[in-house]
Amino acid sequence: MPHGPYAGNHRQETQVNKIVLIDEYLCTACGKCVVLCPERILYIDEASNKCKVRDESQCDKLAGCQRVCPTKAIKITL
Ligand code: SF4
Ligand code: SF4
Repeated sequence: MPHGPYAGNHRQETQVNKIVLIDEYLCTACGKCVVLCPERILYIDEASNKCKVRDESQCDKLAGCQRVCPTKAIKITL
């Protein structure tokens, strides 16, 4: 059974994304990044109650979400 790079690590980041990385362990689903994101690509997933990314190819990479997140759960990689 293959395991991903974060297997066994409870501080999991979104594995499919390369630009917008969300540490779901730190995310409190406060929604501040969702309101701020000009591209509307961030949303709160109701099932997991965590912030997720719709389509990171639309990301402006200006890292507004990273700055506004109170728990530093978001990292924009350039
Ligand atoms: S960097 Fe900008 S466009 Fe990209 S997810 Fe954050 S707020 Fe949205
Ligand atoms: S601002 Fe941070 S803590 Fe709040 S929903 Fe976004 S990623 Fe989660």
